[in-house]
Amino acid sequence: GWDLKGLLKRNWLLIATIVSVLLGIGLGVLVRDYASLSHLDKQYFGFPGDILMRMLKLVILPLIISSMITGVAALDSDVSGKIGLRAVVYYLTTTIIAVILGIALVITIKPGVSQKAENIDRTEITQNVNTVDTLLDLTAQTNLGAGYTITALRGQNMIYIQITMFPPLSTTVMNITKDYIIVGSYSDGLNVLGLIVFCVAFGLVIGKMGERGRILLEFFDALNEATMRLVQIIMCYMPVGILFLIAAKIIEVEDWEIFRKLGMYMVTVLSGLAIHSIVFLPLIYFVIVRKNPYTFALGMAQALVTALMISSSSATLPVTFRCAEENLRIDKRITRFVLPVGATINMDGTALYEAVAAIFIAQINDYDLDVGQIVTISVTATVASVGAAGVPNAGFVTMVIVLTAVGLPANDVTLIIAVDWLLDRFRTMINVLGDAYGAGIVQKLSRRELERMDGTSDVTNPFAL
Ligand code: ASP
Repeated sequence: GWDLKGLLKRNWLLIATIVSVLLGIGLGVLVRDYASLSHLDKQYFGFPGDILMRMLKLVILPLIISSMITGVAALDSDVSGKIGLRAVVYYLTTTIIAVILGIALVITIKPGVSQKAENIDRTEITQNVNTVDTLLDLTAQTNLGAGYTITALRGQNMIYIQITMFPPLSTTVMNITKDYIIVGSYSDGLNVLGLIVFCVAFGLVIGKMGERGRILLEFFDALNEATMRLVQIIMCYMPVGILFLIAAKIIEVEDWEIFRKLGMYMVTVLSGLAIHSIVFLPLIYFVIVRKNPYTFALGMAQALVTALMISSSSATLPVTFRCAEENLRIDKRITRFVLPVGATINMDGTALYEAVAAIFIAQINDYDLDVGQIVTISVTATVASVGAAGVPNAGFVTMVIVLTAVGLPANDVTLIIAVDWLLDRFRTMINVLGDAYGAGIVQKLSRRELERMDGTSDVTNPFAL
């Protein structure tokens, strides 16, 4: 039967979010047209949204620490031998491919770059060429030292000289060993890279400690669960926060271009996800397994639809198992390892999204990223996708890692939060598909080990159920 009540109950947060987006737009337009707000009023108006952002930032630290440490520690004790290693190689390779694809798309499509500014550049150049050019030459030659860039922009009636400071790569590397690693606030600049290095190292050590390490593993596991529960509670406030975030944005907006940019940003993420799942993943599968990759994907259809509906790879896991084992007949010894570990650490869609979102935010802020910073974004996007739990909006929360690592304003996520409910669904679907292809590929690569396990009955099989 068609269970409307159950459907509403399960999806109330989604429905509330969509309603609040619409209400927020309506409220914003009304207030903008009919009320004249003072600067202070506007600040009050943005307050409920501010609270949402602050609450999200509050949980990031325990979230990164607990999920990275447990992820790495579990990996070390579970990954016995070649099968685990193959899975990890697959996870990393495909995640990095997704990140590179995302970066290539966002750099070519340029969703966050103003079209207007480019036009001005071309039309205004003819005027006052001489003086302006001399000035530009001068500023271009001025060297303020490492880490500073000067940009000169031509505007309507003037040129702007913009001085920006970025930490050079060497500083970033030094920061890994900054004296405070875990204690530090966002305003001081949270030392994210240092934190990641610490968590990976700590997780590896815990994983190697065996029984003695178990208590720590359980501690961080419980911390992770507690934090996720906190996130769930914050999510209940999300519709309210979003309503005011959007309304406040519309009230203060002077340049409607921002909505075109947001649309292009969605197009960029969605086309990246499409290319990754229709071209790249199937290609890798075909090259290794030599079977039709689309028949394979069809076998996963139920899991993919579930992921799209509930935006959570972890919650989709039972369906992923069923499709992989029953429709595609993948060996249980493979699925039992590759799928659950994949659901927590292998997130191609999330990694792609994080890279695109970070560079999009750089673009709307007119930040020119250098090669070092783009490399930093690739690395942190990969890590942030590993650190993201397989639950709704997790990737959005861990994106602050990527932004902080290259010094981008974390507050700009207010813009993309409005569309995250939609992108989350599609990236989750790609996350699940990536895990499934992984199971198929690892099974093919491990046929010999599997046969050997079958042949010897008294073998201690780490993947046995
Ligand atoms: N919702 C995603 C997942 O469960 C994670 C994310 O937010 O990117 O796979």
